[in-house]
Amino acid sequence: MAKKKTISLEGAVKTDAGLNYKGVIMETIVEKCEGCDRVVAFEGDNYCTTYAKPELKWVRGVCNFATHFRAEVDKAGKVKVNPLKASKRAARGR
Ligand code: SF4
Repeated sequence: MAKKKTISLEGAVKTDAGLNYKGVIMETIVEKCEGCDRVVAFEGDNYCTTYAKPELKWVRGVCNFATHFRAEVDKAGKVKVNPLKASKRAARGR
């Protein structure tokens, strides 16, 4: 099955618990998500189209689906985080 490229949150309803999108409660993105291509705005707040709880994706390091960061493991086995250059991101989008 082909995946939809653009996800819109049409039909989502804001609740006290978060944004209810087709029965899934979505939480707003965290600071580290800013700049990621998977962020979508809905009624003034930003949500991640990949994860309902973006905060959890950053608890143990870098979100593995982030489009603006990537984690690299160096020779010592340490995880390094490199912000991707905008030019690289643009090239990838081609
Ligand atoms: S994919 Fe990861 S970094 Fe991007 S918005 Fe979602 S949780 Fe944040």
